[in-house]
Amino acid sequence: MQFFDSEYFTYKNNRLYCEGTDISEITGTVGTPVFIYSKKFFTDHYRKFAGAFSAIDHTIFYAVKSNYNLNVIKTFYDLGSGIDVNSAGEFYRAVKAGVDPKRMILTGVGKTRNEIKLGIENEVQFIKAESEQEIYLIDKIAGELGKVAPVAIRVNPDVDPETHPYISTGLAENKFGIDSKSAYGLFLKASNLKNIKLTGIDMHIGSQITSVEPYKEAVEKLAGMFRSLRDEGVELTHFDIGGGMGVKYKNEKPFTPRELAEAILPVLSDLDCKISFEPGRYLTANGGILVTEVLYTKTNQKKNFIVVDAAMTDLLRPSIYGAYHHIQPVTLSDGGNDIVADVVGPVCESGDFLAKGRTISECKPQDQLAVFSAGAYAMVMSSNYNGRRRPPEIMVDGDKFYTIRSRETYEHLLFDEKINKELFEN
Ligand SMILES: *Cc1c(COP(=O)(O)O)cnc(C)c1O
Repeated sequence: MQFFDSEYFTYKNNRLYCEGTDISEITGTVGTPVFIYSKKFFTDHYRKFAGAFSAIDHTIFYAVKSNYNLNVIKTFYDLGSGIDVNSAGEFYRAVKAGVDPKRMILTGVGKTRNEIKLGIENEVQFIKAESEQEIYLIDKIAGELGKVAPVAIRVNPDVDPETHPYISTGLAENKFGIDSKSAYGLFLKASNLKNIKLTGIDMHIGSQITSVEPYKEAVEKLAGMFRSLRDEGVELTHFDIGGGMGVKYKNEKPFTPRELAEAILPVLSDLDCKISFEPGRYLTANGGILVTEVLYTKTNQKKNFIVVDAAMTDLLRPSIYGAYHHIQPVTLSDGGNDIVADVVGPVCESGDFLAKGRTISECKPQDQLAVFSAGAYAMVMSSNYNGRRRPPEIMVDGDKFYTIRSRETYEHLLFDEKINKELFEN
């Protein structure tokens, strides 16, 4: 069995620790399944990213959609991060975490009127428009509110998929942004709108990108547009690179922030504007694990199954993307054999698995397993399907651990749903 390479989740005397905290001590207190995050991971990765770009005036807007626990948001905010919110719900969460709306940006391909209004009224730093109609709607709503809305336009740079087959999204056929051919004219048109102040050009070319090449290519394309707009008298003040910086789930070799800086800074530095970034996964994915307990093991038709108490309702990525998440025991035993098994949850769906055909050390009921890279796009995608309660979230800080969200209760499952008596009167 291979071990996941992490400085934040390591074995001491055959027991898995997060920083200085024994994982078994946490599960002994709050049970399983449970998400466990390392505060030091978040802090180190934020600093590493910010440090790589210290030579230029820049802002990191943490994309809260990757992990929106209030304490995670606050961890990044306290380090100086801005916050990228994608909906009114994320805006609400960020406010609850203590974030000043002036340090937020409002993004998303389908913002509602109410979301746009919320952004303008609360004076978010800028709103990223993703269509011509949205630009006109923002102008109209800002007019009604008697305000001038700061707006960036998200351009889809259409980085050639033939040369970069490893990018899974962010291409011309994608729903995001405005294609680069239309965008230029639209910037010129929008610059005449009274209730909008155009502030920047924006891109976000996909997610889990592991090479700097597509960034370099996209930045070069958009830098050209930025300069032409300046020549036309449209003075933009920022250039937003977006997020998408890849991480290691299995054997990927992602670039470092420094390598990204080396690739794009030569293009960006002579634009003489502020640079912004919207990383999510890079800052959170490998800062978290999901710990689950083995309920049963069985062999059907020569295939091994490990049935665990975590499910697709807790970690959806394997089901919807076929994503790989590394799994290893919380306690190592001597002389255990490796087997090949599917690790599956209790939900009534064949798609409910955490791993398929995985080489893993043999285990028995009540053993605990750690599912790695569960700090991003994990808890935020959880659901109550099959009447399951969402797991608790724990943040470790050195040798202490803190509950940052408790396990849901059965009352949570009902919220304010109740029998409506009128329905049954006749
Ligand atoms: C999802 C998203 C991000 C964050 O993406 P990561 O891959 O997690 O870095 C940033 N910006 C926008 C507009 C997004 O949609």
